[in-house]
Amino acid sequence: MIMAENEKNLCEVQPFGGFDLPLIYSLKETQKADIKIGSLVKIPLGKRVILGIVWSLNVTDTTMGAKARQIIELVHEEPVLTPDLLKLARWIGKYYSCNTESCLEAMIPVSVRNGMQEKSRRLISLDKSKSDYENLLNRSPAQAVIINFLKHQNHPVAASKILAETGKSHSTLVSLKKKGLIIESSETVERVAYDDDFSDSNEKVDHTLVLTEEQTAAVREATKDLQSLAFQTRLIFGVTGSGKTEVYFEAMDEALKQGGSILFLVPEVSLAPQTVSRIRNRFEKEKVVVWHSHLSSGERVDAWRSITKQDSRIVVGARSAIFSPLPKLRLIIVDEEHEAAYKQEDNPRYHARDIAVLRAKFVNATCLLGSATPSLETMHNVNRTKYSLSKLTERVDNRELPLVHLVDMRREAEKRKTLPILSQPLVEALRDRIQNREQSILFLNRRGFNTTMLCPECGHVETCKDCSIAMTFHRTDGYLRCHLCGFRKPAPRNCEKCNSFDLQKKGHGTQRIEDLVEDLLPRSARVQRIDADIMNKKNLFRETLSNFRKGKIDVLVGTQMIAKGLDFPKVTLVGVIDADLPLRMEDFRASERAFQMLVQVSGRAGRGNRTGEVYVQTYAPFASSIQFSRRSDVSGFIDEEMEMRKEFGYPPFTHLIRHLFRSRSSAKVEFYATEWTKQLQRAEIENFRFKGPALAPLEKIKGYYRYHFFYFTPSVKRTIETLGKIRKNFPIDPEVHDILDVDAQQIC
Ligand code: ADP
Ligand code: ZN
Ligand code: ZN
Repeated sequence: MIMAENEKNLCEVQPFGGFDLPLIYSLKETQKADIKIGSLVKIPLGKRVILGIVWSLNVTDTTMGAKARQIIELVHEEPVLTPDLLKLARWIGKYYSCNTESCLEAMIPVSVRNGMQEKSRRLISLDKSKSDYENLLNRSPAQAVIINFLKHQNHPVAASKILAETGKSHSTLVSLKKKGLIIESSETVERVAYDDDFSDSNEKVDHTLVLTEEQTAAVREATKDLQSLAFQTRLIFGVTGSGKTEVYFEAMDEALKQGGSILFLVPEVSLAPQTVSRIRNRFEKEKVVVWHSHLSSGERVDAWRSITKQDSRIVVGARSAIFSPLPKLRLIIVDEEHEAAYKQEDNPRYHARDIAVLRAKFVNATCLLGSATPSLETMHNVNRTKYSLSKLTERVDNRELPLVHLVDMRREAEKRKTLPILSQPLVEALRDRIQNREQSILFLNRRGFNTTMLCPECGHVETCKDCSIAMTFHRTDGYLRCHLCGFRKPAPRNCEKCNSFDLQKKGHGTQRIEDLVEDLLPRSARVQRIDADIMNKKNLFRETLSNFRKGKIDVLVGTQMIAKGLDFPKVTLVGVIDADLPLRMEDFRASERAFQMLVQVSGRAGRGNRTGEVYVQTYAPFASSIQFSRRSDVSGFIDEEMEMRKEFGYPPFTHLIRHLFRSRSSAKVEFYATEWTKQLQRAEIENFRFKGPALAPLEKIKGYYRYHFFYFTPSVKRTIETLGKIRKNFPIDPEVHDILDVDAQQIC
């Protein structure tokens, strides 16, 4: 009898603390009503008490029945994970080949996991039933002061306020309480995550805005998706300035009308202050949670609780916000879906855009992906009709796209017999803007990891014939290497195409450019740089952007980080210092990234009433990324790039899994990488291609030597399973670690 009773109350709990499988626990009769799937609970494990997530209820396991230990207590009233998040955690664990615990850690904020509770404060009021205060007080003037203060208050007052106002001590309050003259109560204080400073733009809601025909069509289609109540993914493919945000807003209205909640993802919250304030303005009545890395743990807990309790139905945030425990999720928006920032480069190495689509599927919601330069992965899904498409081909008010000038740096170099950083045409355009009191932005690309060989005479870059990526020059041994397949050859002394001698490396930091610009422009010009240092100082970054918007800065110099989503109406000139750098990076996505950068950057010019101008400095004016971006021909570029990817069997036609081996011992890592190659060859895995081992572009990081493999497969799930089996029978020295990165974006 007792056995049977026990069985009914068994549940599976996924513990935190290094266990990969759920364990079985029993529920007390009193806990049955409160503990749900997804609840955070305290459980005994050995002699310890640890935290765990209730994984499933009503387990029937006769072997465990009598032995199962009891759950100690429930930590938060509400489950910390919604059922779809639990499903996601399992899926992520399998697909990205990581343990469940790291998924749960990514999903549940530390402060929530630690059981941090709401903050409450103590309120004090006078006990009005007592009338003989004076009698009771005659011996204590301090107590009298407090009583007098309270007599003049209409509401209970915070204890801290009483002490601050009267200058009396806490012990006086204690004495008053003992005498029964005052009453204590408590109230929950919310640590507001809504009141942040994402409002530096003075944008107002424009209620008179009339949607363009294209916007109207896109809204109609997205609304239909939502009304179908079935899972749908739609790409909003709209040129920069075509008003994608308005389309999102209309869809959000519909989702709210349905009583649903909304998740709005941006690549990086601090780079999207305008989007955030536009959402706040538009949805004034909603408590919009902005989920960002600067939240204190208290703010995080409160924001999180307000999400689970459905006080907040809109969450805006970067990558990790995809795990917000929003009940009744109806709409997920992924703005700038092509951004690499959506990929987490640490365990669990998930891609937030892909997870967004999957989560929408789990809850039958609508997922909108938006971009002016969609990723090839997303376009591939559109072409396969997995996603639907809405196109916005025109800028609102038919504003002109900026005029793009290509500056051929090969000729500039010839004229000056050195490698120039700033070309004559760009400098003149800058001077012109200063004279006309207009603003300019200068973009500098992120630096390549190594030195690729660029010929300044003809723009030729040495590439690997098998992989179609730039080879990199290693000064130590004078070899050129391919970082995908490991092929190497002695570096040529002169250019293989034009026979010129001058093979040089390039690369200049923002600091250098800022100095140079200051030298070349009139003294009065105000030049300001934005780089990693400034980015890391939250306020300085905001202040700089705000000063730029107010016109206190003439020329802003920065990396493409500042290209995203920012709208500066007074900017009429954009200069791209080195358009080729991404092209020369050792990655098959180099061309795609260069193209996206150029289109996005150009989109920053001429957002106001003036047509903007863009100067693109390049050594490779013939490159397709440059030619297509100049004509703003996104589809043309994508079609051509798709062909290349297809020919080489790269994503999106296959999935790419990167397998990294690293160790402090270069001999050991090389040995195991070589041995692993033999295993792969012997296994003859079906539908599977691999390249490697090759030295990683960053061959040594923090004392670790790094080698990697690249696997190309149509099915991640099957490949991960097969590799797992082989890996199990392949013991590796404890000093060597290996990591799988599924759908790898970064190849460093
Ligand atoms: P995108 O995200 O497509 O680059 P935005 O949504 O940021 O473009 O819109 C660019 C600007 O155009 C914003 O200032 C927005 O308020 C304005 N806008 C959007 N739709 C319209 C419209 N139908 N009429 C007038 N202005 C609009
Ligand atoms: Zn190669
Ligand atoms: Zn050459």
